[in-house]
Amino acid sequence: MHVVIIGGGVIGLSIARALIKLDIKVSLIEKNRVGRSASWVAGGMLAPQSEGLKEGSFLDFCLESRNLYKDFVEKLEKDTGIETGYWQCGILKLAFSEEEKKELQEDINRYKKLGLKAKWLDREELEKIYKNLGEEVLGGALYEDDAQVDNRKLVLALEEFVKRNADVYEFEKVKEIKTENGKFKAVVGENVYIEADKCVVSAGAWSMDFGVDVFPLKGEMVALDIEKEDIDRVLYSSRAYLIPRKNYHRLVVGATQEDVGFKDGNTLKGTMQLLTGARDTLKILEDKNIQELWFGYRPATKDELPILGEADIENLIYATGHHRNGILLAPITAKVISEYIYSGKESRYLKEFSPLRFK
Ligand SMILES: Cc1cc2nc3c(=O)[nH]c(=O)nc-3n(C[C@H](O)[C@H](O)[C@H](O)COP(=O)(O)OP(=O)(O)OC[C@H]3O[C@@H](n4cnc5c(N)ncnc54)[C@H](O)[C@@H]3O)c2cc1C
Repeated sequence: MHVVIIGGGVIGLSIARALIKLDIKVSLIEKNRVGRSASWVAGGMLAPQSEGLKEGSFLDFCLESRNLYKDFVEKLEKDTGIETGYWQCGILKLAFSEEEKKELQEDINRYKKLGLKAKWLDREELEKIYKNLGEEVLGGALYEDDAQVDNRKLVLALEEFVKRNADVYEFEKVKEIKTENGKFKAVVGENVYIEADKCVVSAGAWSMDFGVDVFPLKGEMVALDIEKEDIDRVLYSSRAYLIPRKNYHRLVVGATQEDVGFKDGNTLKGTMQLLTGARDTLKILEDKNIQELWFGYRPATKDELPILGEADIENLIYATGHHRNGILLAPITAKVISEYIYSGKESRYLKEFSPLRFK
């Protein structure tokens, strides 16, 4: 079997890897360099609980992926020799108001009922850990099983593996999908024409070019210099999230979220929101140097759920719309999509997140 994949972000690359492991021939077409769009831009949090997800299929999908992560990165690291910065550091979600405190305490109760780890730490307890805690912080919910990966290192490792084992066409934009009798036939790029048995559309925030209702939600980010003693794990709140990388070479501060279409650049407003949020969380950050500013586009959908599986064209399979959680969801997406391609096994997630729900 030969599968062609449109889009080489974390989703396309992870699916490519899973298919290669099943001995399926893969061609991947990417309009820029692989892995340099949303998947490069992200924070890399693996945070179903910190995201406050409610009980249901999407939380199940996210938790399953979080459980797959350790094995996913360990095998990838072994195959490529590239370390991914995966760190089960836990995430502390802070409350800046009584309302947020109440909401977090309700979340803790919900998650405990599901058998998940969650505990409340009040301000006094937090002050023992963080010398420079912002004055408005009232306490926080500690989710020990939420984690992080350095998404840039992850895509570098995936890129290495996929380039070694598949035909990768970079700087090649797919312009058209050819069909015959309602079935996928070929993709047409600017310089290539590739026929294959099946096609996966994993074109991120640009997937609307291939007939699904995905739109971009812009996010801006900042990185600061950091010392090991400043912060021990991810601190997440409504003001900003702070992600210390495992080797403390940077603190990633995110993220704004704006529905402004594709509007490139870092704004004064966005940068100020992030820097103020960082300082409100840990006062010491005020004195740190800025390393980098960047931005990107989440592939969002109207109901904030991913789009997985076939729609009207047989053998054309969507794997997109991962919105705020695409780094987290890469292992489970690769699993359910590759199983479907290989054996026709349709996981419950393909039914629940089918593109047909919008028809
Ligand atoms: C600021 C920000 C912070 C985030 N933080 C987190 C986080 O902490 N945790 C988390 O889990 N997720 C996070 N996300 C979300 C996550 O980054 C995305 O959900 C994920 O990267 C989507 O992966 P993708 O492969 O679908 O898209 P992308 O990485 O955008 O890849 C899609 C690729 O398709 C290519 N493409 C598009 N059209 C064509 C075409 N016509 N021909 C060829 N190639 C094409 C693009 O060039 C691109 O490289 C964040 C996102 C943003 C923007």
